[in-house]
Amino acid sequence: MSLFLRLLWRNRLASLGGGVITVIVLLALVTPLLPLQHPDVTDTAHRFLFPFSKGYLLGTDQLGRDLLSRLLWGTRLSLAVGVVAALAAGIVGSGVGMIAGYAGGRSDNVIMRAVDMLMAFPYVLLALAIVAALGPGLMNALIAVAAVNVPFFARNIRGITLGLAGREFVDAARLSGKGHIRIILTELLPNVLPVIVVAMSTTVGWMILETAGLSFLGLGAQPPQADLGGMLGQARSAMITSPHTSVVPGVMIFLIVMSVNLLGDGVRDALDPRLRSGALSRPRAATEVARRGPVPSPEMAPADALLAVQALEIQFHVGGRVYRAVNGVDLAVKPGECLGVIGESGSGKSVTALSIMGLVASPPGVITGGAVRYRGEDLIGAPYARLRDLRGESVAYIFQDPQATLHPLYRIGDQLAEAIRAHHPVSRAEARARAVQLLRDVRIPNPEGRVDDYPHEMSGGMRQRVGIAMALANDPDVIIADEPTTALDVTVQAQILSLLDDLRRDRGLAIVFITHDFGVVAQLCDRVAVMYAGQIVETGPTAEILATPAHPYTRRLIACVPELGGGRRELAAIPGLPPSVDALPEGCAFAARCDKAAPACREARIDMTGTGPRAVRCLYPEEAFA
Ligand code: ADP
Ligand code: MG
Repeated sequence: MSLFLRLLWRNRLASLGGGVITVIVLLALVTPLLPLQHPDVTDTAHRFLFPFSKGYLLGTDQLGRDLLSRLLWGTRLSLAVGVVAALAAGIVGSGVGMIAGYAGGRSDNVIMRAVDMLMAFPYVLLALAIVAALGPGLMNALIAVAAVNVPFFARNIRGITLGLAGREFVDAARLSGKGHIRIILTELLPNVLPVIVVAMSTTVGWMILETAGLSFLGLGAQPPQADLGGMLGQARSAMITSPHTSVVPGVMIFLIVMSVNLLGDGVRDALDPRLRSGALSRPRAATEVARRGPVPSPEMAPADALLAVQALEIQFHVGGRVYRAVNGVDLAVKPGECLGVIGESGSGKSVTALSIMGLVASPPGVITGGAVRYRGEDLIGAPYARLRDLRGESVAYIFQDPQATLHPLYRIGDQLAEAIRAHHPVSRAEARARAVQLLRDVRIPNPEGRVDDYPHEMSGGMRQRVGIAMALANDPDVIIADEPTTALDVTVQAQILSLLDDLRRDRGLAIVFITHDFGVVAQLCDRVAVMYAGQIVETGPTAEILATPAHPYTRRLIACVPELGGGRRELAAIPGLPPSVDALPEGCAFAARCDKAAPACREARIDMTGTGPRAVRCLYPEEAFA
């Protein structure tokens, strides 16, 4: 809640709007207590007095009534009517939408077609028709305005409810024996409430305006009752001779609607977690770069490296916080080599991988240091056009969830062809032939038939093969695979691993293979880098690390892998949790969970030390390595 208020406060326009509307609402609330003339008392001797006349701060109208008094009373009425209309439309519309979305099927159809009928009429015409049927009057204007806004809420909320109603937590509630009404109230309502609040806050201003419009036409408030629209309507005839009679209510309507809308937009932005992190406000084509230190020189990278990551630092700037997701990572792969990157969830593996091609979302992501060298060329801060040339063409990605990375509405053949044609101007027929060949390369049976399948027609393992085929489409030099087998069962996982292994041997691919599973690393990778809290803590040839882990974290990570036929033993879990990356400790990030930690471990940054291909970031490495 306090975060919400802080975000709202940081938004200048929203706080301005909030300030103005607060003053107006306070004035409206204290109006009965103020020493004002009665708003309806006429004084024909003092008609059309200008503002600042004696006794009349804002002047008088055509009947000599005090404009200040009428303005405040009118504001009170207009605000109340607008808010009540918004509440009524919000509650009725959301209720209808939730019931339709939850019930689904025929009930949904019947309800939504009724709502569609309301929507089929032009908005203002419908409001006019309702008032005409009910007769003029403020109450009827309120009903009309609320009614024409019901479909807006109903449609919005139904869509969201429909998505939620199929989710597992609703199924779980059903299984636990909850009734429909309780499910709607306790499971669905809390999830759609933020949307309702946002929709209401952005429509209140609009509804005040509509009510004023109806009153202006003489269909809302009836004389002598003062409301803003009515005042404006009655002042129309004297617009030229006594403009202040129109300006006073006009300015008030403007202030109310503007401030409510600014505040409403601010509320929406502050409530939406994506807008909160700034993801939608200024999307960038490549990750923002703000390198503080010097760029590491190319000589420092291994000479034969195809891709080298040097001292890479990436932060997320969210609100006032800084999340140091990656803190000085060095990696390098040679052609034909497979490097495993292993670490617990949240250790910064994916962020490291994505930053190589500038794919970390910015904002909030910022690359604050280091270099990524592809064939010696530094890609950090490279022009976007250069990155685009390399993406998919020289460095390709395979992600964890092929269901999420394949477009659900296009045939896989078309998606493969698209990947090829993004970089090579080949004809459709050629691209298709190449797509079939790619499917054959990743050992999909009957590729000629399968090329026209949609992603949902394939199994998880096949979809992942398509993902690999897509990565191979342009014969890249480097493939970055981010947990490509995590979502698959073990037999399919083994097939995918052996496929990747063959591919790198046949084509000389360099693979960066990200995983949290030492078993997978053992099967595929030549070398392995162990990550913890955004740093590499140990690196070396896979076989050596598996046999003699040097970092206590590596040792315990290996101990967590169950062994088949290894007899019954206590399964080791690592106690505690990794540190939060917005509050990293001074020294070793693993010290809090390490059974060997000494005071020296917590004092200062610990550097990588090692001999030959092995290196470890530990003051007290395991004996076997020393
Ligand atoms: P993993 O090693 O499991 O792939 P990630 O690289 O995805 O971990 O994440 C590393 C850290 O960066 C995590 O602490 C995560 O919370 C943080 N992080 C990732 N994306 C964002 C983001 N968009 N905003 C803020 N923090 C993020
Ligand atoms: Mg990840």
